[in-house]
Amino acid sequence: MTLRINDRTLSRESIKNLNELSGENVKLCMQCATCTGMCPMAAEMDYSPRKVMHMAQFGLQSKLEEINTYWKCASCHACTVKCPRGIDIAKVMEALRQQTLRTNTNYIEPSEMSAETIAELPQIALVAGFRKMTS
Ligand code: SF4
Ligand code: SF4
Repeated sequence: MTLRINDRTLSRESIKNLNELSGENVKLCMQCATCTGMCPMAAEMDYSPRKVMHMAQFGLQSKLEEINTYWKCASCHACTVKCPRGIDIAKVMEALRQQTLRTNTNYIEPSEMSAETIAELPQIALVAGFRKMTS
């Protein structure tokens, strides 16, 4: 069932899909923001991990598809080890990436990267980036 609130899609199906893909229950989040406080990448994100969990709890799928938070996530697990509700937030971030990647959509396009950029970046960063951000 899908409801419209403030032009955003509120979808129970979205919550179910995210929970199944991540193996976590986003509804357990109590919005304490410990994850945001722990996150070394928060300053680079357009929405903090706490806000992303809030969007996920309400199934705001169209909004979740627009944001960069889960692409900026470094998968460091700092949030996961400190979450008082035991939520593996890093897994939720990975599931959000997978929702895009499984539609054969890349977040970065290797073929569009300049030779200079490829030469400058450490190889391990390139490989990690391609693994995480390409389908
Ligand atoms: S630390 Fe856990 S409970 Fe607190 S806001 Fe983040 S996900 Fe929610
Ligand atoms: S796993 Fe991602 S969201 Fe969690 S603290 Fe690390 S960078 Fe931030």
